[in-house]
Amino acid sequence: MKKIAVLTSGGDSPGMNAAIRSVVRKSIFEGYEVYGVYQGFQGLINDNIEKLELGDVGDIIQRGGTKLFSARCPEFIDAGVRQKGLDNLQKYGIDSLVVIGGDGSYRGAQRLNEEGIKTIGVPGTIDNDINGTDFTIGFDTALNTVVDAVDRIRDTATSHERTFIIEVMGRDAGDLALWAGLAGGAETILIPEAAADIKAVAERIETGMNRGKKHSIIIVAEGVMSAQECGVELRKYINVDTRESVLGHMQRGGKPTGNDRVLASRLGALAVDLLKDGISGCAVGIENNKLVETKFDKIFEERHQIDRALYKLSQELSI
Ligand code: ATP
Repeated sequence: MKKIAVLTSGGDSPGMNAAIRSVVRKSIFEGYEVYGVYQGFQGLINDNIEKLELGDVGDIIQRGGTKLFSARCPEFIDAGVRQKGLDNLQKYGIDSLVVIGGDGSYRGAQRLNEEGIKTIGVPGTIDNDINGTDFTIGFDTALNTVVDAVDRIRDTATSHERTFIIEVMGRDAGDLALWAGLAGGAETILIPEAAADIKAVAERIETGMNRGKKHSIIIVAEGVMSAQECGVELRKYINVDTRESVLGHMQRGGKPTGNDRVLASRLGALAVDLLKDGISGCAVGIENNKLVETKFDKIFEERHQIDRALYKLSQELSI
């Protein structure tokens, strides 16, 4: 009988639980045994592995975070360390592994696949920074969390006639900042994929103030600079009263949106389907609303890109 393990790795994201549930239930539906690995790759090398039953994933589809816990395990780049994990899987007779996480986790998954365990990656990160999928699990929830925060900050920005600089997560990627900026009606969106011309931003704010604009919202992706630094940079060019807001880890928490739950359910089940068909060494994703799988090699070929048309639109609408 096929034995499949599932783990979550890297930064947690809302919808990871829905993905775990899907992997577990689809595996059992197919007649396989399924095992949960706690604390990501760290748990793999520490033998923190447990057989899961249908009931073990009940009442989690609506919860943020991950029931299996997540961890960073830098030593996993070492082949000798990974061997411990492989030995542990072998002990249980596990031949397949589903890794839910970001692109760092995919690198670990790729290594394990080369070393003999059939591995599939499922994109779980709020950053939306992985190739091979239009959307990652957790992005939609984080987007809505950020937009809600921007709306609230806008209320006070308007009341006090101030410029707010809101720092948004995303590591090296600007997706979350771009989408949240567009949805939140931000005047300025600063993302790593487009060079930040602070002087031009300052001039635009000044022009707005001169024509009677009472407030301004600037969204800055953490991959560009901090909100604090952005305020300092702006004041080099204009005399403006700014307030900085760092949204921080609130962006990673909270119950997943319906979209994230559906995406997680589809991708978790697809991972099991691929393993059933003897396919591994790839990650699942959604492109143009079609489920797809992409080899890890291809995913790592080039850097993730933002949607340029969306960026252009955000520029056109924030004049
Ligand atoms: P997020 O982007 O949401 O934080 P992530 O999966 O990219 O998620 P990372 O911390 O980059 O998060 O990676 C998670 C784990 O994957 C690492 O702690 C490490 O255990 C493993 N990993 C990363 N890179 C490699 C690699 N080159 N070889 C083996 N394992 C790796």
